[in-house]
Amino acid sequence: MREPLIATIGLGANLGDARQAVQDAMQAIATFEHCQLHAASPLYRSAPVDSSGPDYFNAVMQISTRLSAPDLLDRLHQLERGAGRERPYRNAPRTLDLDILLYGAARIDSPRLSVPHPRMRQRAFVLRPLADIAPALVSAQELQAVADQAIEKVCIW
Ligand code: ADP
Ligand code: MG
Repeated sequence: MREPLIATIGLGANLGDARQAVQDAMQAIATFEHCQLHAASPLYRSAPVDSSGPDYFNAVMQISTRLSAPDLLDRLHQLERGAGRERPYRNAPRTLDLDILLYGAARIDSPRLSVPHPRMRQRAFVLRPLADIAPALVSAQELQAVADQAIEKVCIW
């Protein structure tokens, strides 16, 4: 069996009971087979970036996992489907979005998986919660560069 490594997952939702969806997804991911919760960020609320509709709820979590990256993505997609996720058009509002931000130190460039997530460093809703749980992974300059994006910490759960 493969050695466990730390995977970093971004969670977001802005349709339906988005706050609950993010919270439920976090719990579900923490209980995935071959996974253990390593760290969970506070919950954030952010204005849509490259998207539309109501504000988003966002969080970032880290798990220690023995799942391969494609297997992890499959399970995340299952959760998205369970939350009623539809993809009517690119960047559409969503009931639940689960992205693999980092998978250990791996670089993956396949048709269904780009890791590190190509846009994660441009997004305050990723960098702010990530900085809370893994400050070494986010620089002050990167946080400064997204300081104009509207985002607030909502709760520590
Ligand atoms: P986005 O999250 O970019 O707004 P979607 O959630 O609709 O868009 O995902 C579109 C596709 O992106 C997925 O079908 C998935 O295969 C692919 N994808 C590529 N890299 C990743 C990643 N690191 N995490 C999650 N999905 C990814
Ligand atoms: Mg996604």
